[in-house]
Amino acid sequence: AIPLEYSGRRRIFTVSNQKGGVGKTTSTVNLAAAFAHMGATVLVVDLDPQGNASTALSIPHNAETPSVYDVLVEERPLSEVVQQSPESPRLFCAPSTIHLAGAEIELVSLVARERRLRTALEKYLSTTGADIDIVLIDCPPSLGLLTINAFTAADEVLIPIQCEYYALEGLSQLMGTVSMIQKHLNPTLALSTILLTMYDGRTRLSQQVADEVRAHFADQVLTTVIPRSVRISEAPSFGQTVIAYDGQSVGAVAYREAAVEIVRRDQLPDVATGEAAGIS
Ligand code: ADP
Ligand code: MG
Repeated sequence: AIPLEYSGRRRIFTVSNQKGGVGKTTSTVNLAAAFAHMGATVLVVDLDPQGNASTALSIPHNAETPSVYDVLVEERPLSEVVQQSPESPRLFCAPSTIHLAGAEIELVSLVARERRLRTALEKYLSTTGADIDIVLIDCPPSLGLLTINAFTAADEVLIPIQCEYYALEGLSQLMGTVSMIQKHLNPTLALSTILLTMYDGRTRLSQQVADEVRAHFADQVLTTVIPRSVRISEAPSFGQTVIAYDGQSVGAVAYREAAVEIVRRDQLPDVATGEAAGIS
């Protein structure tokens, strides 16, 4: 029962976790492709100087490419940097370039340094990007000004959590930053979604971590978990999401189910638990 046309409201997610390697970029691009597959028009904003999301979506992003750096630092309109991914006519990306590595410091001395992405995004979404249904912002692994710009521009925080031993470590710092943002910069920001990634059903550890995260965040954790899968890790080297690379693989199916669950939870008013979202 996957809807062919996306009929939900516009949603702006920041995909954040100050830990590296937990699946932020992988979840950003694969959820983006899955939402596009459901009929949504999707914009990925690559805020990580590493540019992995741009690479995975096959978006050119060499040093000369107009990028999110120009938007944040030079106030260039987002419409001038957004490119369409060859993967889908409904999948767009504002690429990152290496210049973004300097933005963290350059932003410090600029006016409204925390709100630059929000301002640019609002302008874009009310003009050229008016048909964008879902925005996913891929954050760097830190809680610096780039991530603060993402939190200030977004409505919802999506946290990928890797099912490993120290999964919950650092989460309180992340929560602290989110409440600071709510207090001072973006009062309506909500921690809406937690996605368990790299789940290995053969290990007790994965199960234990999943149980522990669910105990702490019963309302936010999706029922769908993303399994550890070689297909998922291979896809970026072909400049593809796993949805395009191997759409029938367990990883592609899991990301599509996660996307459906995210949409359904929003559409059923009293769905606080994944069970009620009816994903099987
Ligand atoms: P982050 O953006 O949080 O730093 P990535 O999304 O880049 O994390 O993931 C880190 C590494 O783990 C990458 O090499 C990626 O291909 C791999 N990876 C992510 N999710 C999975 C998965 N479900 N199965 C296997 N490998 C994964
Ligand atoms: Mg990343």
